[in-house]
Amino acid sequence: MSASPLLALLMAGSLIGPPPPPSGATWSWPVGDGGRPPVVAPFDAPEERWGPGHRGIDLAATPDSRVAAVDDGVVTHRGRIAGRGTITVTHASGVRSTYEPVDSTARIGDRVERGETIGRIGDEAGHCIPATCLHLGARRGATYLDPLAFFGAQRVILLPVP
Ligand SMILES: [Zn+2]
Repeated sequence: MSASPLLALLMAGSLIGPPPPPSGATWSWPVGDGGRPPVVAPFDAPEERWGPGHRGIDLAATPDSRVAAVDDGVVTHRGRIAGRGTITVTHASGVRSTYEPVDSTARIGDRVERGETIGRIGDEAGHCIPATCLHLGARRGATYLDPLAFFGAQRVILLPVP
């Protein structure tokens, strides 16, 4: 992977983090094959429902790499949004995880297990262009949550871009 200013936004430390989700369950990383992928862009909650913000986190990924379900659940949506393949998995807690850009052959109603492959990173331009990333979202009802909170106690430290 070539160096990118985005990659200067490195994850560091396992210091004070957001509180764990109410269920106590933690997600597994959807990319990185078990390792912890760099977070290239953090969650930025919109101040208003339709206002600007970043409704998820961007995880560094390589083109065509596999995308895994973060937890057990059921595929409840697959489609294309703004030209990018997306897939949504609804978990027992009611939280939905969304992934893009992902090429997937999963069908609505498919049960998936934590860590199970649900697709591959699509070759459409994601919003990390020219780098490749997976945009991971988390929603409960209409509310966007910080997906990072589901990965246990950890936080992102943003390093200044040279
Ligand atoms: Zn994103």
